[in-house]
Amino acid sequence: MIVDSHNHLTKYSPDASQTREEMMQAATEIGLHGIVTTDHYDIGSITAYGQEWVFDPVEYCEDIYPHRRLPSRRQKDDPPGFLCGAEIGYIPEYIDRLNKLMTDYPWDIVIMSLHLVHGIDPFHEPEKIYKPSLEDTFREILEVIAESAEMMPTANIIGHYDYFSRYGPQEKSKMLYRHAPREFDHLFRIMIKNGQALEINTGTVEKLHLNRGYPLEEAMPDAEILARYKELGGTLISISSDAHHTNQVGRLVPETCAWLHKQGITDYVWFEERKPIKGTFEADENLLTALDKKS
Ligand SMILES: [Zn+2]
Ligand SMILES: [Zn+2]
Repeated sequence: MIVDSHNHLTKYSPDASQTREEMMQAATEIGLHGIVTTDHYDIGSITAYGQEWVFDPVEYCEDIYPHRRLPSRRQKDDPPGFLCGAEIGYIPEYIDRLNKLMTDYPWDIVIMSLHLVHGIDPFHEPEKIYKPSLEDTFREILEVIAESAEMMPTANIIGHYDYFSRYGPQEKSKMLYRHAPREFDHLFRIMIKNGQALEINTGTVEKLHLNRGYPLEEAMPDAEILARYKELGGTLISISSDAHHTNQVGRLVPETCAWLHKQGITDYVWFEERKPIKGTFEADENLLTALDKKS
């Protein structure tokens, strides 16, 4: 019964291939309680696709909004809920424009994500971002993510804190609490003060598992990160597949829920009209080991 809070559509995100109808079909097939489209709004990010990663918010909301169905009101046998959101890339130079974007449109969910550091994309130019030690790299990145949470206090979710785990030159590139304990604490304190949720992004889990050779359970977020977040008083966890293609909708969500269960986490959150809604989930902890045996 999960609402998957972070997904992309081909019409608005240049790196996605699924239509809204295809995404809804996939969400229905795998039994999601709801799904949210959160397309990229990344000012200044111009990539191989040759266009800036922004959409026209008026057109977007006019197109998406009429299809909304609140997961909180979903009845048995209804199709999955559907919500309207945006994934905003943090660019300090454009804070005023980004804050205006957040307030001027009827989003259910705003995700604040860091994709570029000092204007550099880790996917295209990793050598300009990654330092010889993961500690130095992740400390710097977490400081910028904390700044984004502080400067955009009304953003609902801090997206994929571990995005930079995906592209490091180190073989074992997963972000751990011990790489940057002070920076993690600082970030969590800001998020907790602002009521911002910590996103568990199964896209990162999948990439670490498939591309970096981590067994599935080790590809999950660092347990110490979750433990520290809870210890500091954090209660808002969001679950996201960050699907760009239909075969990614809900990817590894059951396994991730099983892992969260093992960490003592049995509820999560999504947002409707920017307000948090709590959900609970059941999970089969055997899923994790079963999958590792298969792979
Ligand atoms: Zn992202
Ligand atoms: Zn995304």
